[in-house]
Amino acid sequence: MRKVNKRSDGYCLGIESTADDFSVGITTFEGEILANVISAYMSPEGGIHPREAARHHAEVANTVIEEAFKKAGIKTKDLSLIAFSQGPGLGPCLRTGATVARALAAYLHIPLVGVNHCVAHIEIGKLKTGAEDPVTLYVSGGNTIVAAFDSGRYRVFGETLDIALGNCLDVFAREAGLRQKTGEPFGAVVEKLAKSGKKFVSLPYTVKGMDMSFSGLLTTAVNMLKKGENKLEDVCYSLQETVFSMVTEVTERALAHTEKKEVLLTGGVAANKRLQSMVKSIAEEHDALFCVVPAQFAVDNGAMIAWTGVLAFTHGVKTSIEESFVRLRWRLEEVEIPWIKKANLY
Ligand code: AMP
Ligand code: MG
Repeated sequence: MRKVNKRSDGYCLGIESTADDFSVGITTFEGEILANVISAYMSPEGGIHPREAARHHAEVANTVIEEAFKKAGIKTKDLSLIAFSQGPGLGPCLRTGATVARALAAYLHIPLVGVNHCVAHIEIGKLKTGAEDPVTLYVSGGNTIVAAFDSGRYRVFGETLDIALGNCLDVFAREAGLRQKTGEPFGAVVEKLAKSGKKFVSLPYTVKGMDMSFSGLLTTAVNMLKKGENKLEDVCYSLQETVFSMVTEVTERALAHTEKKEVLLTGGVAANKRLQSMVKSIAEEHDALFCVVPAQFAVDNGAMIAWTGVLAFTHGVKTSIEESFVRLRWRLEEVEIPWIKKANLY
C-alpha cells in the first residue's frame, strides 16, 4: 500500500464515464495522483452502444471504486471532494457516473463538482507535462479539438464538423475487417499496418477554415479497399498521412495565430507515433515546446476529472445536486476557467 502524506489539504475522487470507459481516479489537492483505475467496455460487435456501455459502468463501478481506494491507500472518510464528468458525452453513460458521484457525495457529506471532460483532458496534460499555456490538440474516439486559453476560457480554434479522428480510424478498421488483440485499440492496429505501407494514394483532404471533416475520406478509404485496387497497408498509410496532416495543419495555424510557446497533444490518438512526429515538427518550426500526455492519462481517465475538480473547487466552483444534471453537449468554451490568471491575447 502506498504511503500517503497525511498533511495534504485533502483528497478528491474523480469519476469518468462519458463513453466506453468507466474510471475512478484519486488525487491530492496538490496534484499527486494516487490512483487511476480504468475499466474499458469492449462491445462484441464494435462501436459503442450507449446503454450497453452504461450497463457495464454500473456493473463495474463498485469494484473500480474499491480498487482505487486500495491503490491510493486512503479511506472514504479521508475524501473531501467528489468530481464527475458532467459532459459532453453519451447520456446513459454520463448519467451512470453522475448517479454514483451524487450518491457518494451525499453519503459522505462532502461537496460535488461537475467537470467538463474536454477541460479535464487539457488540465491533466498540463499537470503531467509541465505545459503552462499550450495550444492543445485533443484527438480521441469522440472529440477532435484544437484549443487554447484566452480571456478566461479555453477557446476552440478548430474542430471536426462530423466524426472524431479516433472514430474515423476505428470505423475504417472495422469495415476493413481488422482484428484487435484484447485491449488493443483499433487505432494502434491501423498504425502498425501503416508502417509497412509504401504507396501513397490520394484521399479527400477536407479542411474548411479551421474545421475538419473526416466522413467523406472514411467512405473513400473503405470503398478503395473494397474494390481491391490497393493494398491494405497502403490505404492505412495514406489514411494516417491524410488525417494527421489535417489536424496538424489546423494546430499549426492556431500556433501561428496565438504565438503560444507550447503544443500539447492529448486524447487516445495521441499514442500514435506518426502523429506525434508530425505535431512535434510543427512545434519546432514555431520554436514551441512539444508536449505529449503519457498514455494512461491521454485516454479517458478518472484522475483527470479528480484533478480538474480540485482546480475548480479551490477556485470557488461547486455543483449542487440540483445543478448536477448531465450536459450531453457541453462545449469547451462555455466553461469559465477561474484558475488561470493570464494576460489576454488581444
Ligand atoms: P479515448 O476516446 O481518449 O478513450 O481514445 C480512444 C481512441 O484512441 C480510439 O479511437 C482508438 O482507436 C484511438 N487510439 C488508441 N491508440 C491509438 C494509436 N496508437 N493510434 C491511433 N489511434 C489510437
Ligand atoms: Mg475511451
